[in-house]
Amino acid sequence: MLHLSISFNQQLERAKPNSVAVGTMVSRKKAKGKARKAAKEATKQVVKSAVAEDDSHQQRQQQQQESLEEQMQRLKLLSNKNLFTIKQNEYGNQSAYAAEFIPKHTLTFAELPAIRGGEIEIATLYNENGTHQCQADDDAFLKNNIGLDESTRKAIWELHDQFIDTYTPTNHPLYSPDEKRVLGIIKSNAYHSNEEGSRGLYPTVSRFNHSCKPNVGYGFNGWEMRLYTTSDVQEGEELCTCYSDMVYFHNRIERGEFLKSKFNFDCICSGCNSSDNDDESEEERLRQSDTRRERLRLLAETLAQRDRSNLKKSDLEMIMESINIMKLESLEHNISTTYRLAREWAMKLGEDEASLEEKCLGAELYAKLLELSKGEKHPETIQAMMEMRRKST
Ligand SMILES: [Zn+2]
Repeated sequence: MLHLSISFNQQLERAKPNSVAVGTMVSRKKAKGKARKAAKEATKQVVKSAVAEDDSHQQRQQQQQESLEEQMQRLKLLSNKNLFTIKQNEYGNQSAYAAEFIPKHTLTFAELPAIRGGEIEIATLYNENGTHQCQADDDAFLKNNIGLDESTRKAIWELHDQFIDTYTPTNHPLYSPDEKRVLGIIKSNAYHSNEEGSRGLYPTVSRFNHSCKPNVGYGFNGWEMRLYTTSDVQEGEELCTCYSDMVYFHNRIERGEFLKSKFNFDCICSGCNSSDNDDESEEERLRQSDTRRERLRLLAETLAQRDRSNLKKSDLEMIMESINIMKLESLEHNISTTYRLAREWAMKLGEDEASLEEKCLGAELYAKLLELSKGEKHPETIQAMMEMRRKST
């Protein structure tokens, strides 16, 4: 699978289980004697540095004390209503549904992670080096090392473990069949915070299922994850986020392979499947989407090769085309990052900002998306709001 590295699309995958280099390193060492001792030492070091690096530890403890219910209450005050409910979908999985009509660009939910950053690395490491051999070990870790209360632990254990069928007595000697493991839950559900650069496990956000054509976008204000609608959502409609930016750049077949290998599920979203197999217009809709995503990949690959010190007008046009494709494909959750780059390039090229606005996003939508995804008090939002006002006067 092609992994694109492009500057205008830096948001990371929802979960990146292979990215914890320390865990992989130690797992290779776990054999015997000296190596085992070295692994233990390494574990100690990681635990130490993870705790030390978290200089806001106390603040984090306070945040953690805010229960899910209190968070819901806070959001209620923010949006003045409960916009969604969690219930079982037709496949027997828990999922989020709109409790009423939700207009496009409505802040839908905000949540802090129950486990995050260094804690996730430690959980991964303990799993890899065999310290945690069964669910009971994992639960004791969540309770004693992370300090999670019973209701938060319960919320975590209720989440889906997509990797449950991969556990065997060989790699988990004390395992029980059908027993979820915390690492599997993390791999299935954790999101990368693009502000903090590492993963967080969000118990309620994790209930939102994946779609390659999502109706919910997200952003981060520090560790706070914020969800907002990217289209009008009807009452009773399922609310879905997109688990990985990789799906932006691939057609249905490639996306299916990627999601299966990364998250171990078959995608059933409306972006990949026809609502009626006999309906030719449905098939046409999917074909057009495939074409647009393949085009988006070509644009990304071309732009990644461009010399930034020698930008051309055609580069700016390609970036604007990318923004418009993302809009058409409902891939709005990091569109503002791309727009910011478009503005920078427009200025460098001496382009007229008004024409940029007309052709792609516009200052107003840019400010709105930042407000939704990062909050009204975030420095980037404040700057964008000021820019917008400056233009309108
Ligand atoms: Zn899909």
